[in-house]
Amino acid sequence: MTSKDYMDREARYGAHNYHPLPVVLEKGEGVFVWDVEGKKYFDFLSAYSAVNQGHCHPKIIGAMTEQAQKLTLTSRAFYNDVLGEFEEYVTKYFGYDKVLPMNTGAEADETALKLARKWAYEVKGVPENEAKIIVCENNFHGRTITIISMSTDPDAYKGFGPYTPGFITVPYNDIDALKKELEDENVAAFLVEPIQGEAGVYVPDDGYLKKAYDLCKEKNILFIADEVQTGIARTGKLLACDHESVRPDILILGKALSGGAMPVSAVLADDDIMLVIKPGEHGSTFGGNPVAGKVAIAALEVIKNEKLAENAEKLGKIFREELRKIDSPMVELVRGKGLLNAMIIKPTNGKEAWDVCLKLRDNGLLAKPTHGHIIRFAPPLVINEAQIREAAKIIKDTILSF
Ligand code: PLP
Repeated sequence: MTSKDYMDREARYGAHNYHPLPVVLEKGEGVFVWDVEGKKYFDFLSAYSAVNQGHCHPKIIGAMTEQAQKLTLTSRAFYNDVLGEFEEYVTKYFGYDKVLPMNTGAEADETALKLARKWAYEVKGVPENEAKIIVCENNFHGRTITIISMSTDPDAYKGFGPYTPGFITVPYNDIDALKKELEDENVAAFLVEPIQGEAGVYVPDDGYLKKAYDLCKEKNILFIADEVQTGIARTGKLLACDHESVRPDILILGKALSGGAMPVSAVLADDDIMLVIKPGEHGSTFGGNPVAGKVAIAALEVIKNEKLAENAEKLGKIFREELRKIDSPMVELVRGKGLLNAMIIKPTNGKEAWDVCLKLRDNGLLAKPTHGHIIRFAPPLVINEAQIREAAKIIKDTILSF
């Protein structure tokens, strides 16, 4: 079968809820992926920052296959011998009392919303069904009905109503707007992405997260950080909140928590928050399964042992420096933190970000536009300096060829 045959089959039998770049991959190792014709590419998307540890990291795949041959799933109806090990490891790793394991990022976000509402009623004393949660314009937290109810992107919410009530939207990176809404006594929480990834890698001003956190503390409001995309070393620190020494009341993790091997997500909080949820009130058949536990421990060990946060910090600077040297009217702006970066493309001679990505693919580098004119560049964090320079050269030559 050729690439075209694979794409035609997906179009014929699969729902059309994605518009992939035309390339069919069959193998991945470290920072590289290969298509079915054997062509090799730099992966500069990393499955939306899920593959921070690189494709098929032997330690993660080793942990996965070993556990998969022993016990894969018990559900939470029974105990298993791995879940506690994972819970102890992950809570000590991030410094929280408790963890609640789920599978996808969206589920973890939903979990955090439920926690915040329950905390508002049981601890803060908000009248039943009156709790509000403040979210940001242009947020992305997933695709469930409740999550799209918080979205300001018509592509995400239009046609899927009626929507879940209880959300207030404020502009991102706007402390005054947030401050105003925090006056409402029924506000339970402020949910924020430390950098808005899907929106196009919007990096807020230095100090925004800290100020927002301090305001929340003043008003007895929970600060919830969605680090599904920014967490696990992507931005040059273990968490993007670490750049401002902010410790979220509720921390949401997903994606690279498994190194991309399988869906593993988690919500972390201290006892005064986490213990408001009682047996039977929340859960998931697969959440906390033993394979996920072993995979997540291995994935987090790789981050520390291979110093991937430090690598992301160092190589991110070099990468942005190289991209900013590209002298082309097509490059409007380069921004980012660590190895979560974006280039804003100004359409030139009828060519836009999608055309740039097609040509990048032809030149051996995979990236995808987000919101039409923005290309995100987020390679696996195991990339080395020679490779990042080579990749920056591919991007430069590609842009200059237009
Ligand atoms: N939260 C953020 C910040 C994300 O970037 C994403 C996915 O891109 C999600 C949540 C949803 O994660 P998932 O696709 O695993 O449900």
